[in-house]
Amino acid sequence: MTVSADPVAIARDLVRCPSVTPAEGGALALLEVVLKKAGFAVHRMTFHEPGTDDVENLYARIGTAAPNLVIAGHTDVVPPGDERAWKHPPFSGEVSGGELYGRGAVDMKGGIACAVAAVLDHLGQRGGKPKGSISFLITGDEEGIAVNGTPKLLSWAAEHGEKFDHCVLAEPSNQDELGDTIKIGRRGSLNGHLIVSGTQGHVAYPQRANNPIRGLVALVSALQAEPLDQGSTQFAPSHLEFTSVDVGNKTVNLIPGEARARFNIRFNDNHTLDSLKKLIEQRATKAAGGKINFAFQWEPSNAGVFVTKPGPFTDLVAAAVTEVTGRKPALSTTGGTSDARFITHHCPVVEFGLVGQTMHQVDERVPVADLKKLTEIYRKIIDRYFA
Ligand SMILES: [Zn+2]
Repeated sequence: MTVSADPVAIARDLVRCPSVTPAEGGALALLEVVLKKAGFAVHRMTFHEPGTDDVENLYARIGTAAPNLVIAGHTDVVPPGDERAWKHPPFSGEVSGGELYGRGAVDMKGGIACAVAAVLDHLGQRGGKPKGSISFLITGDEEGIAVNGTPKLLSWAAEHGEKFDHCVLAEPSNQDELGDTIKIGRRGSLNGHLIVSGTQGHVAYPQRANNPIRGLVALVSALQAEPLDQGSTQFAPSHLEFTSVDVGNKTVNLIPGEARARFNIRFNDNHTLDSLKKLIEQRATKAAGGKINFAFQWEPSNAGVFVTKPGPFTDLVAAAVTEVTGRKPALSTTGGTSDARFITHHCPVVEFGLVGQTMHQVDERVPVADLKKLTEIYRKIIDRYFA
């Protein structure tokens, strides 16, 4: 078991834990040992929810004073798929050609390993004690449906009086090269169904029926006709995309009674979940002109939009990135959602980790050089934060 502050060894040991969601796979146990040895108070908790798998989580803290810098992440991984397709077995943690192979190498056991190594180095330089506090908030439920993970971990922390000042989420944030991107926000995501009702009838007697497909086509077209907004300082324009149109009519001479369409909206900080629903409903009402009988069904969403406004904290992280890589990172809000959307309600959060290129793929792998550089970056972030 790893006890050194070698990010490659820690990453390798973590990759060797087969922690496909919801399995813990030994990954949190490993972190517990390493962090306890460094003087952290480690809490392991299992969260439950009816109808879902129990999932293990971990919160560890060293120091009692403010500020409390939190490093967040997940040890669960997506399944490897066909293991025979891999150059090296997905849970072997093999290093070959200067790269560490394995499921989770990039997303995001590698990032966690670098953060742990950086913290251990920082503590080592300071006689084992931080100036304020350093915490790890690690879930085993990020890649799954994420109900027994970060949201409950944050509630647990709040109930236990834990206060966070700033958070670095160690997700793979970079596009092509280490240092090109810091994520400072994420768009929100909302799923909806548009349902148009008509009157069923015989195709030969259309005057006795009301075909809902006509109304659906008109509304689908109207909702795509106008942009939702023009974007904002930190975000690209919001986007609505239809993902399915369903009538399910198997009969050739029948006008159906109902037609449905499904869509997803990725939205920016011009909207909230509620204001966006209102906007869509208003536009549909206008397009329908009282002639189409329609309704919306909205799927529950916990994916609101958030942004950590550029300022001293993002400057500090960006400066550390530039110092190590020579690159000036873009402050980006692109991509899917992440657990940062939950953390943002507790403290400012930025995401910075490895390069995302091979995540969720066969032969997921990370250059050993990147693990070393990311450790250095985290080390500089921590040093500057407590300076
Ligand atoms: Zn991830």
